[in-house]
Amino acid sequence: MTQKILVLPGDGIGPEITAQASRILAACQARGLDIEVEEGLLGGAAYEVHGEPLPAETLEKAKAARGILLGAVGGPQWDKIEDLSKRPEKGLLGVRKQLGLFANLRPAITYPQLASASSLKPELVAGLDIMIVRELTGGIYFGQPRGIEERNGERVGFNTYVYSESEIERIGRVAFEMAHKRGKKLCSVDKANVLEVTILWREVMERLAPEYPDVELSHLYVDNAAMQLVRAPKQFDVVVTGNMFGDILSDAAAMLTGSIGMLPSASLNESGQGMYEPCHGSAPDIAGQGIANPLATILSVAMMLRYSLDEPALASRIEAAVGTVLDGGLRTADIALEGTRSVSTAEMGDAVLAAF
Ligand code: ATP
Ligand code: MG
Repeated sequence: MTQKILVLPGDGIGPEITAQASRILAACQARGLDIEVEEGLLGGAAYEVHGEPLPAETLEKAKAARGILLGAVGGPQWDKIEDLSKRPEKGLLGVRKQLGLFANLRPAITYPQLASASSLKPELVAGLDIMIVRELTGGIYFGQPRGIEERNGERVGFNTYVYSESEIERIGRVAFEMAHKRGKKLCSVDKANVLEVTILWREVMERLAPEYPDVELSHLYVDNAAMQLVRAPKQFDVVVTGNMFGDILSDAAAMLTGSIGMLPSASLNESGQGMYEPCHGSAPDIAGQGIANPLATILSVAMMLRYSLDEPALASRIEAAVGTVLDGGLRTADIALEGTRSVSTAEMGDAVLAAF
């Protein structure tokens, strides 16, 4: 059956990097992948045309798509929009929410060719390959009640950190499955010494463990996890955690690799429908110059093939092509060594296509 793919270029460097990723999608099609690709507007680009960051038309296309490829949204020109619900970032949150994309997969991989790009000691990060599984639709970012109100003559701000057993269980299963397919180690991160909600989190993870006998489950408090991540990141294989801890830890893990332009991500729902995007933002400082690194977006296509389209062989081919290009010494400016020539976004796309 023909599967629908929606490409949402978004803002900033989004159109430049998705253009290169779309060429890879087309190459997959030419190799027999049965997909139908269409484009849509999201974020600031949508706001300019429709006055809202997630137009009904885009949402409809998103719901019908098996996989969504997103560039990035946002930029300084929209930071002044007073109605927060019209900001570009709300468009992204809207898609996540409407499609129920609860499982955020964020690999942190150091390419051997780029280990020297990290500001950390190469021996600390060379060969790093972590998968952070972050719960994306619950936790303190969504809990009710929330607000700012007057109490005893002063204002107080409050949020609620809440997870149900079923929410914990479904993200737990994604993480256990992932660990089962990878290095058989799963570290669950919580703050069970202070927060009741994470006592439940830990309990549910323990309850699932016997169903995955080949996976070794461990637990860390989030403060210790942050320390360990910086001290000895290679001890981790799969990490599972809630929305807020995952937000922070996955950004920290991304920086360990030293190459924000290289990291893809996936956000999946229960039916395997997913949105795929680079971990980096819209990089307004370099937008329109044709110098952005398209590899994170191209690698996001590989994740789409693996997790939504059940085409692991094609996914591996894309990843191998990226490796070949890096082996050949090709670098966009963000990953170039000082004094070496860097290539444009399109030249990098050309090279990956040629190696694919
Ligand atoms: P957001 O809030 O959307 O995450 P941000 O400003 O926090 O945005 P980025 O947009 O990711 O973060 O940009 C951070 C820095 O990394 C910028 O200097 C940007 O130019 C650079 N950068 C991000 N993505 C790329 C890329 N694909 N290629 C080259 N440089 C990039
Ligand atoms: Mg940011």
